[in-house]
Amino acid sequence: MLIGGIEAGGTKMVCAVAEVSERAFAECGGRVGEDVKILERVSIPTEKPETTLGEMVAYFKKWKVQALGIGCFGPVDLNRRSNTYGHITKLAWQNCDMVGTFEKELHVPVGFDTDVNGAVLGEVTWGAARGCESAIYITVGTGVGIGVYCNGGLLHGLVHPEAGHVLLTRHPKDTYKGHCPYHENCVEGLAAGPAIEERWGDKAYKLVDRKEVWELEAYYIAQAVVDYILAYSPEKIILWGGVMHVEKLFSMVRGKVQELLNGYVQHPMIQENMEGYIVPPALGDDPGILGAVRLGMLEYENKSR
Ligand code: ADP
Ligand code: ZN
Repeated sequence: MLIGGIEAGGTKMVCAVAEVSERAFAECGGRVGEDVKILERVSIPTEKPETTLGEMVAYFKKWKVQALGIGCFGPVDLNRRSNTYGHITKLAWQNCDMVGTFEKELHVPVGFDTDVNGAVLGEVTWGAARGCESAIYITVGTGVGIGVYCNGGLLHGLVHPEAGHVLLTRHPKDTYKGHCPYHENCVEGLAAGPAIEERWGDKAYKLVDRKEVWELEAYYIAQAVVDYILAYSPEKIILWGGVMHVEKLFSMVRGKVQELLNGYVQHPMIQENMEGYIVPPALGDDPGILGAVRLGMLEYENKSR
């Protein structure tokens, strides 16, 4: 069976078609590369909704997919009882009916969630958090986003978690004003790529050898991670995004998390196995797109019941 996936972002829409076997449905996703194979992926620039949606619809019509999953940039409406379910609710794509458009054009089940919930689902199904009942996916890139998988399902809520904007204690020596228009000291405003670049006046990858840059970065990311550990109690934390390409940040964040927790959460994962607890994705660059395919699979099962 062919299932489509869209990783919908502010600059590009990654669209993929996967061949999915019966066993993948029977065995919680089965194995990537065996039961689920990505046959093709294309990248379509995010322009006006009319143009871009048309291109995506044509792509999936050509492939005749039997279900589609979308991991979408937000904010989005995930409340199935709402009149604007499946819509993007802000920015240039405000009021764009993502789910409705594809359902109407393709006549197939359409799964829908945030991009980061898609990514955590991909990693829970096939990656570093496989088999976990609870896990989180944190991306530190242009913004900070958190996907939360909790007690065997994706966490929604009144709107959906926006844990990239949790408030942090500012470093006493950090005089940078912050990059978030809403908050002076949220993790996105203090630690996402654009904040690093504005604070230090250079591209993040060119700052790799400046120790003070990454010490401050770890100080902020670790505070956020501690908040997520205390609030969600994840069995696995997947940390990624452009900024985490600075490899030494992983060990710095792990060390700082342990220091800030100060022995309070007593579990061997935290006390003895931080390296296996806070990890990069096992699916490389694919947690988002594979997660979208999984959203399509789950919606197909949901509608077939
Ligand atoms: P997006 O969040 O838009 O999906 P990315 O996750 O690639 O995109 O994040 C982009 C941000 O990550 C940029 O603002 C840049 O500051 C930072 N970044 C990208 N590559 C690197 C790198 N190799 N080292 C450090 N920072 C990087
Ligand atoms: Zn904010």
